[in-house]
Amino acid sequence: MNHSGSLYVVATPIGNLQDITLRALEVLKHVDVIAAEDTRHTSGLLAHFAIQKKLLPVHEHNERKAAEQLLQRLQAGESVALVSDAGTPGISDPGAVVVAAVRAAGIKVVPVPGPAAVIAAMSVAGIAASGFYFHGFLPASGGQRRSTLQALASLESTLVFYEAPHRVVDSVTDMAAILGHDRKLTIARELTKTFETIHQLTLGEAVAWLEADSNQQRGEFVLLVEAAPPVEEQAVSAEAERVLRLLLEALPLKQAVKLAADITDAKKNALYELALTLKNTD
Ligand code: SAM
Repeated sequence: MNHSGSLYVVATPIGNLQDITLRALEVLKHVDVIAAEDTRHTSGLLAHFAIQKKLLPVHEHNERKAAEQLLQRLQAGESVALVSDAGTPGISDPGAVVVAAVRAAGIKVVPVPGPAAVIAAMSVAGIAASGFYFHGFLPASGGQRRSTLQALASLESTLVFYEAPHRVVDSVTDMAAILGHDRKLTIARELTKTFETIHQLTLGEAVAWLEADSNQQRGEFVLLVEAAPPVEEQAVSAEAERVLRLLLEALPLKQAVKLAADITDAKKNALYELALTLKNTD
């Protein structure tokens, strides 16, 4: 096999070491050097599989510089594997900067797919949605987290988040308040590990459930939130109704309907029907 001059982006286990793929092992054995998010962590993985290989650090803070060094090696004909601490590089992990630089230099980048927590969680959630939106980590600051959730609130796709144990209660509290208490939440914790837990409940129930047992707040989390319910074509959103009500107080019906449609993008016919109902019930 000739690996010369290619960058292999290699997925590694997210817990259970048996999840490494045969191809990942073969690539890790044969490349000239392995670029790793944390060389100590990857040494442990390599030792487990009796692989001895030169390791170079590529973490969030040195990724640009590391990319230059890796480029030189690749251009000199060496083959390089890129791994992160767990799962697939570039998925809420370093990797994208190196990959972009290597691709820009016209060097071959080869995916060696395998575990990713987002896919493992989706696979056991039993959500038949046609699509999902993977967000990764929400911002750590409460204000930014809430505005991010606000921006996602009407997305008609399953929402997938990564979360750290010390923030899971705060995040779920904000999700319930902003996305709605009735939406279903799947908590996928410690996947492929000893304390693997996959639990489904509503967002409204979730904080009490997490707080009832501190063990449920430990480890690594993927949170999957049911999609927003589809907006009926003719339905008027709560915001559009609020605008219409305000305008009806000051303007004749037709004018209020036209302005409300311009402001909110709601359908004029639907607003007109609603305006008539509102006038008749006044
Ligand atoms: N690159 C990884 C992947 O492909 O999934 C993700 C790395 S990111 C730095 C780490 C986060 O992924 C954790 O905080 C958690 O949200 C999620 N994660 C990783 N392993 C997990 C596991 N075994 N069970 C649940 N979530 C996990």
